[in-house]
Amino acid sequence: MEPRQGSEDMREIHHFVGGKSFAGTSKRRGPVMNPTTGEQQAEVMLANAADLDHVCAKAEEAARAWANTSVITRSRVMSKFQALLWQHKTELATMIAKEHGKVLADAEGDVVRGIEAVEFSCGIPHLIKGEYSDGVSTNVDMYSMRRPLGVVAGITPFNFPAMIPLWMMAVAVACGNAIIIKPSEKDPTCPVRLAELFMEAGGPEHIFNVMHGDRELVEAILAHPTIQAVSFVGSTPVARAVYAGATAHGKRAQCMGGAKNHLLVMPDADMDAATNALMGAAYGSAGERCMATPVAVAVGKGTAEALIERLQPRIEALRIGPSMDPDSDMGPLVTREHRDKVKSYFDMAVDEGSDLLIDGREFSLQGYENGYFIGACLFDNVKPGMTTYKEEIFGPSLQIVRADDFDQAAKLPSDHEYGNGTAIFTKDGRFARQFAQHVNVGMVGINVPIPVPLSFHTFGGWKASAFGGHNQHGMEGVRFYTRVKTITARWDDNFGDAQFIMPTHG
Ligand code: NAD
Repeated sequence: MEPRQGSEDMREIHHFVGGKSFAGTSKRRGPVMNPTTGEQQAEVMLANAADLDHVCAKAEEAARAWANTSVITRSRVMSKFQALLWQHKTELATMIAKEHGKVLADAEGDVVRGIEAVEFSCGIPHLIKGEYSDGVSTNVDMYSMRRPLGVVAGITPFNFPAMIPLWMMAVAVACGNAIIIKPSEKDPTCPVRLAELFMEAGGPEHIFNVMHGDRELVEAILAHPTIQAVSFVGSTPVARAVYAGATAHGKRAQCMGGAKNHLLVMPDADMDAATNALMGAAYGSAGERCMATPVAVAVGKGTAEALIERLQPRIEALRIGPSMDPDSDMGPLVTREHRDKVKSYFDMAVDEGSDLLIDGREFSLQGYENGYFIGACLFDNVKPGMTTYKEEIFGPSLQIVRADDFDQAAKLPSDHEYGNGTAIFTKDGRFARQFAQHVNVGMVGINVPIPVPLSFHTFGGWKASAFGGHNQHGMEGVRFYTRVKTITARWDDNFGDAQFIMPTHG
């Protein structure tokens, strides 16, 4: 959608900087739509490079003081923030459901997974502890500490407007940095509310800043000399470009991209459990999750038939409706453009020769004909050479690929360009272990369909699903948002003579 000048009668979503709403100088605005009705509900400011300069200068000053604030104080602010997030869980989820289109209960899950990252960050006094070696030489000790980077930036996708900004800000801020979050311009309201609650929790001004924008702001972030590190989550082409841009400017970068996750169903698997898993993982959030499972690999004779027999009635019974209706299982897609793109993938899958067993392409919701709805689809006999197998669709569909045996099946996720998540359903521990050890993918589920690690572990895919050396949250997150300093200290009166050789021990 084209950015345009502001109009007077529309709710305006401002940046949130220094504990208050900030308008900046840019006059560009983007529309924020209601995916259920297809109507515009607000417009969001789109910042420019001058606005970023202003925020960076303030954030840099604030970061200096915050880095020197005791780690226990930082932890206590995060604890209060966590308590406020729980109190405001439904309010935040409602904001998400109205702008993203995911159903309210699912939006609450988005908020809760974000709160868990804040909960993890409350342990920062322990997490950031350094190392100490007593007496590495006579009266010489050696220790290391983790220092924050200063000002960092987080660029987030539309599909988790609470969880992903919180993954980034919780660890960055607890480590002693200031952060600028640039949320997706499609659903920008929730991140602003998160920043307001951080202030209410006693967070200092300019430590958690939210700036809205599009490519213009992202490019300014990548080039800005004050910003030390960039965390990005979004599609692979943009992740690749952001990684290249950030590192070319000497910044640390972690850039998570798209996905095409496979779930292997072995012939010995509990078929009812596998069906339940596939229903939630393929159609939950209308498939708009990077850990969705759009590919089921049915292994051995009869497995595909057993799954199809169970899946078909369940898919046909899916309740597709407004995101705020508690009876809806699945809401609309995020934008009209995305809905049309998903539909064109479904058309292409048919043209490429997949068998379309359930056709949701023409679904329309009575009373909401302008909403961005599409029905669920089920495809069988999908082949690895097909474009619709290779590319991420990000919509409500499941593609069944048939494999003769475990080896043929396990090769599929390993050989795929993406490597975010994968899963295996089996009762045989030998296959499960072999799969977990050897599959060329970053996150693996064993009888678990969406293996999203908890915040004290770490989140990140492999191959074209992630660029950069560090994952999100867990100790990887702490490492990303800090750098190590190592100190060697001698305390005695005997400094000895000048030495011109490399100092060695003994
Ligand atoms: P996107 O790449 O379109 O946008 C992500 C962010 O980048 C947004 O803030 C957007 O404003 C910005 N952006 C978009 N185009 C840009 C450009 N040309 N230059 C600079 N910045 C740009 O992604 P999206 O549609 O918001 O999110 C969906 C994608 O994110 C899917 O591909 C999904 O798999 C992926 N995703 C990945 C993970 C993960 O952890 N691997 C998690 C969630 C989502």
